[in-house]
Amino acid sequence: MLIVGAGPCGLYGAYYAGFRGLTVAVVDSLPEAGGQITALYPEKMIFDIAGFPSVRGKDLVDNLVAQAAPFDPIYLLGEQAVAYEQLPDAALIRCASGRTVRAKAVVVTGGIGTFNPRPLPGAADWVDRGLAYIVPTYGPYADKDVVVVGGGDSAVDWALGLEPVARSVTVVHRRDDFRAHGHSVKLLRSSTVTLVTPAQVVGMDGAQHVESVSVRDVKTKAVTVLPAQAVVAALGFTADITPLEAWGLNVQDRHIVVDTSMATNLPRVFAAGDITEYPGKVRLISVGFGEAATAVNNAATVIDPAAEVFPGHSTDQVAGSVA
Ligand SMILES: Cc1cc2nc3c(=O)[nH]c(=O)nc-3n(C[C@H](O)[C@H](O)[C@H](O)COP(=O)(O)OP(=O)(O)OC[C@H]3O[C@@H](n4cnc5c(N)ncnc54)[C@H](O)[C@@H]3O)c2cc1C
Repeated sequence: MLIVGAGPCGLYGAYYAGFRGLTVAVVDSLPEAGGQITALYPEKMIFDIAGFPSVRGKDLVDNLVAQAAPFDPIYLLGEQAVAYEQLPDAALIRCASGRTVRAKAVVVTGGIGTFNPRPLPGAADWVDRGLAYIVPTYGPYADKDVVVVGGGDSAVDWALGLEPVARSVTVVHRRDDFRAHGHSVKLLRSSTVTLVTPAQVVGMDGAQHVESVSVRDVKTKAVTVLPAQAVVAALGFTADITPLEAWGLNVQDRHIVVDTSMATNLPRVFAAGDITEYPGKVRLISVGFGEAATAVNNAATVIDPAAEVFPGHSTDQVAGSVA
């Protein structure tokens, strides 16, 4: 089985595929698993996951990865699935890199589409040389001077999360007002984080790795050079559904139309999570988990027509076994 999208619903689908005895690969265009959670709110507490009164976003993702791990999913990260081809006994999915994956069934858990960080203008050369667009963990920022660029929730959450770890944190934002949640902004303003507003990053400098950042005041045009061994650009993400539309999927208003078995209009292709559309759809992780289970179990009967849709109870499985 191929799962397209390593967000929470895709990860849960990977567990279910393994539980059903299927081999499973998971493709995602992002470099890390976790979809919107990892990209936008890894440190936020989530309060509406069944059975968890509260769970930190990244802990939920780590647990989903751990839950699927006994089944050895193959993660193909940094790969964008752009084309579908119907073979006599399988589906062939082509990635933008040229890689192809042949699967007996496909579950699309593509969320709001291919998710790409809005680039920091003129900074393409600095990616992996000190510039990051996602902060999955704070550890690598220990004892560094960090410049966070942006004024939304991710920028503010990451600045606050980095504050106790980094040597210094400076937030550069082009406006004086922050778009982030009011309470977070209040915490930011009373923290040790230095706020440089209204200002823009206009250059980065360093030998191999970034060593300093040039920041221009929007009003006075004065340029200041800040020491920085790490820059986090939290300028938001753009989501693009067109690579999935190009498969020939029935997409309406940026969502894939599915039936009650989560089947799409394409043979062997199912969908689950935020990306699905049907009357009464509710876009929540808890709903997507159920859809992932429905999609994978129905897809299992496409792979093996003699198989039952109902997978049996996980309690019948010996703890830790993958049989
Ligand atoms: C700030 C914020 C707070 C939230 N809080 C909550 C909450 O408290 N409770 C709740 O239930 N929900 C919450 N949500 C919504 C929740 O995050 C989504 O419902 C959930 O992430 C959907 O999961 P998913 O797996 O369907 O898709 P996503 O998490 O969007 O993951 C989809 C993945 O598919 C990948 N992808 C898409 N197209 C392709 C392609 N063609 N090729 C390769 N990869 C592709 C993307 O890169 C992405 O990683 C919140 C959302 C935000 C932004």
